[in-house]
Amino acid sequence: MRVKARAKSSNTPCPIWIYGEYITTPPKHPSGEVRPEGHYIDKGGYPGANVYAVSADTLCRQTVAVDKRKRDIYENDILLYETEEEIGYFIVQDTETAVDIINGEILDIEALQAEDIRIIGNLIDYPEFIEGMRYHVENGLDVPYLPALDVMETPLPFLKMTCLKCGHITLGCCYMAKHKGCGGYFTADFATKIYREKEKEKAFA
Ligand SMILES: [Zn+2]
Repeated sequence: MRVKARAKSSNTPCPIWIYGEYITTPPKHPSGEVRPEGHYIDKGGYPGANVYAVSADTLCRQTVAVDKRKRDIYENDILLYETEEEIGYFIVQDTETAVDIINGEILDIEALQAEDIRIIGNLIDYPEFIEGMRYHVENGLDVPYLPALDVMETPLPFLKMTCLKCGHITLGCCYMAKHKGCGGYFTADFATKIYREKEKEKAFA
């Protein structure tokens, strides 16, 4: 069976996300070289030419759902849920369900309204995201509003992370849950104030 998925390459100098079809019995390389059984993603195109060995523990299957930008949602994706009234975060658990990390509720992924959700990253790249947000919830703090966990490919300003333990402030392009210097948790914001889209829509309606 061929499954649409993504996973991180295991034989490139730096692991990169490969999107395509997950296979364990790879086709021959166009040069005739036979590949062993294993974990692979076939990107398609010329038969056997775009097959990458991947790390099985990074494998994420594609779901049937898309976000507001029509991007396909995969397992382990972190979704920002945003309506006029509230924000929240979901983690895609498998191809059918997502879990609300604020209250633990499990939802059917098909019940999510595409226009209210946006993929902001994934748990493979940001394994401490849940812990970082849970710290806010458990301590009665506002959960940060993060429309992206890596701002490099977005028009957003740098992320501003403030350590809740020692007060250290750091600017960066990627979200971090903890301040390595003291072990405290960061709260996150932006170098310049970001207004929520839904708030703007309401203000200018
Ligand atoms: Zn600190």
